[in-house]
Amino acid sequence: MTDTTKGIERPKPRPSDLSKPFWDAAKNHELHLQRCTKCGTHVFYPRFNCTNCGSRDLEWVRASGRATVYTYTVARRPTHAAFAEKVPYVIAIVELEEGPRMTTNVVGCSPDDVRIGMPVQATFEDLDDEISLVLFELVKE
Ligand code: ZN
Repeated sequence: MTDTTKGIERPKPRPSDLSKPFWDAAKNHELHLQRCTKCGTHVFYPRFNCTNCGSRDLEWVRASGRATVYTYTVARRPTHAAFAEKVPYVIAIVELEEGPRMTTNVVGCSPDDVRIGMPVQATFEDLDDEISLVLFELVKE
């Protein structure tokens, strides 16, 4: 085992006023998205305006956590020195049941098990007391 991660801190998300509801929900192991109160479109990543109709009337709602793999790649070299011991890992874009796509990791399986179109479900990784990541795992048959 190499010690390339020694002294290198993992990069962490820094919630903004806009994204704080997303991170607060993730901390409680729930996936929340914005939804437009005018047209019903779900919006991710957090924004001030609806991506469909432009309305500024967005509310936060709980999402199902169900998604499918839209596309993915396998990182065989770490994308950051702090991830050196995680390789190989799956970087994916999943399409949420509610519509938006989210960049994430598919975890809990071999990268060889991942295919485009596979059903996945949200899972959460607690980094510390403030930040939990929204990741996805394959749906067990
Ligand atoms: Zn709208």
